[in-house]
Amino acid sequence: MSTAWTLEELDDAIVLLTIDLPEKSVNTLGHDVMSDLSDLVGQLASRDDIRGLLLASGKPGQFIAGADLNELRQLVDASDDMIEQGLASGHDLFTAIGKLPFPTVALVDGKCFGGGTELILAMDDRIAVDRPQVQIALPEVKIGLFPAWGGSQRLPRLVGLHHAIDIICGGAPVSARRAAELGLVFDAITVDPDKATDQLLDEGRRRIEWLAHDDRYLDIRTQRHAPMGLSQDQANFSFAVAAGHVLQKTKGQYPAPLAALEAMRQGLNQPLDQGLEIERQCAKQVVGSDISGNMIRLFFMQNRLGQDAGGPRDTTPRDVGRIGVLGAGLMGAGITTAAARRGIPATMVDLDNQRLADGLERAADVVAGRIKIGRATPDDLGHMLALISTATSNTALADCDVVIEAVTENEELKTRIFGQLASNLGPDTILASNTSTISVTRMASATPDPTRFAGMHFFNPVDRMQLVEVIRGEQSSDLTLATLVALARRMGKTPIVVKDCPGFLVNRILLPYMAESLQLLCEGASADQIDRAATSFGMPMGPIALHDLVGLDTALFAGQVVQAAYSDRAIEIPILQDLVIAGRLGKKSGHGIRLFVGRRKKPTNDPDFDAFLEPHRIDSRDFSKQDIQDRLFLPMLLEATRVVEEDIVAEPAHVDMGLILGIGFPAFRGGLLRWCDSLGAGEILKRLEPLEELGPRFAPTDSLRQQNVSNLTWHDPASETDS
Ligand code: NAD
Repeated sequence: MSTAWTLEELDDAIVLLTIDLPEKSVNTLGHDVMSDLSDLVGQLASRDDIRGLLLASGKPGQFIAGADLNELRQLVDASDDMIEQGLASGHDLFTAIGKLPFPTVALVDGKCFGGGTELILAMDDRIAVDRPQVQIALPEVKIGLFPAWGGSQRLPRLVGLHHAIDIICGGAPVSARRAAELGLVFDAITVDPDKATDQLLDEGRRRIEWLAHDDRYLDIRTQRHAPMGLSQDQANFSFAVAAGHVLQKTKGQYPAPLAALEAMRQGLNQPLDQGLEIERQCAKQVVGSDISGNMIRLFFMQNRLGQDAGGPRDTTPRDVGRIGVLGAGLMGAGITTAAARRGIPATMVDLDNQRLADGLERAADVVAGRIKIGRATPDDLGHMLALISTATSNTALADCDVVIEAVTENEELKTRIFGQLASNLGPDTILASNTSTISVTRMASATPDPTRFAGMHFFNPVDRMQLVEVIRGEQSSDLTLATLVALARRMGKTPIVVKDCPGFLVNRILLPYMAESLQLLCEGASADQIDRAATSFGMPMGPIALHDLVGLDTALFAGQVVQAAYSDRAIEIPILQDLVIAGRLGKKSGHGIRLFVGRRKKPTNDPDFDAFLEPHRIDSRDFSKQDIQDRLFLPMLLEATRVVEEDIVAEPAHVDMGLILGIGFPAFRGGLLRWCDSLGAGEILKRLEPLEELGPRFAPTDSLRQQNVSNLTWHDPASETDS
């Protein structure tokens, strides 16, 4: 018997089962824990002296976090037998719990995820404590799976089809209060923090009494085992709408939510036992699949990155009480907002009060948007604004522990400001620049102390983009990097430490892909064809659309920096300059490569664009989708291999995570280098062969050749699911 479970006889013949995995910060449902629970349930089933069972967690703020990480790791390439056994273990146990000869109630006071949620769904009722730590979720779709220990069948029977589809296909957690509104829990109770356990137990007892009265719990079980009785029209309509949403969101590239819908579609109008069998069959389509394997690997990669961003490991970061942000523009206001939303006081400085007022309005808009969708309250807005102070003089930055510069992208302006700051900042203040293109090492020489200077490159829009590149200049100290990494995490971001180089990590790899898309236009591929090839590969938008969105002037400027730095291979794209000179800057000017029409600025093809294209046209070939994908993604991959060769990041996984978080590289492919691993270096070399005549940008790198010769992969299978 594992020591995870304890059974305590309370008065009135009610027993309390508590889960508390020793020496673990969270409870998980690993094989041993499940098997011990199964033994316990077997014993309880034969007892006739029990009137009810309560289930609680012994860990404050944590109920059951879901799967055991070791067992999740094994799902990456699970055999059919393992999958069969894994599914059966949950089904058999939860079915047995649902048949105990007395009422059962879960008392949830903490995070309850995945298998934990499926366990409480198998009980007769649930009560949750109404506080922020309490979240209930079925997040399996995020690792390419769906809840297949009964979740896809029991949740809809409890909360209805519509909400169940949301929770299962979206994977987002619900609060205790929302769970009570939906009927997922019987009640969300308010407790006195000092007496929470007793109050929760009292509520649980009362619920047991109610369920036991006249054997009400048996009637409830009968109802929940019955087919849901959805009318054919209702079911067809709901599933068609849901599948449409899923397909629109995932472009059909993520099969798990579709498999969940199928399990619900086929199973809900059947008795529960048959529904569970259908769920099991549908689950086999996704458990152990390549896509789920990639997404589980990503989950571990993200965990590792959360602990080790690739910077100094043994340096304690400096405490940051207040940050300063120079520049209240698009990025400065975004950075200030991100800090204040996480409770970090911030001083924002710009040239005049109007710009500061505009910055504050941008900050307020972010939270107002969240209030609209129920993710924030007016109180949150008040708290955030109270943490932001503004000034038009750099002297206001004197008490800031970190100052992030986000002024206009102009090296002369930035270095002039750094010089002035010498007399404004405290003796230990760390200075960071949000520059996208300027050398951090070069700018460092203009700062008060180059060891206390580094890059801190946020992505636009700051409130939505998780990635922050922390750029290590030649002289940046470990303390500086450790402090910026810790600060980025406090701001809710995922930092990756990157060695200073033109384009840093993400833009260096993205820009060859962007340039190639324009080259393809000049060779005869259409804008739509190019964008379609990229989105069908899994990119959130095509490179032509991305040009128009970020602005052709921005793309030109960043492209020139990268082109000058990597001139041995990077191509010049003269059409870009012509478009910028003509004022065709993309969406912001109403036309770029496409034309933006109407109030909603919908992109359409612009016949006038041909006049710009014509002088640059070098061919009018036909391209297949595969041709275009190879042209777009192979230069990107080759640049990624150079980034690894030059130790720009600590490990290949950081390239993959950087691109997934920074540009939306498709997660289902597991990352750019994982895509290479899945095809094999030999196949990549074969695809490069016919392209080499196009120029050195298609020449295989040494590391890629080496991988082929030695039969290696970028990701080491032995360590990629380390956590
Ligand atoms: P922006 O033009 O929106 O804002 C720049 C702000 O700096 C303006 O409000 C301007 O008044 C202010 N400013 C100029 N001189 C100043 C001074 N001496 N003191 C104080 N404030 C001053 O520009 P942005 O898009 O926010 O870009 C800012 C920085 O962030 C740039 O380095 C840019 O490369 C980088 N960046 C931009 C993006 C993006 O997508 N826009 C993404 C990542 C990084």
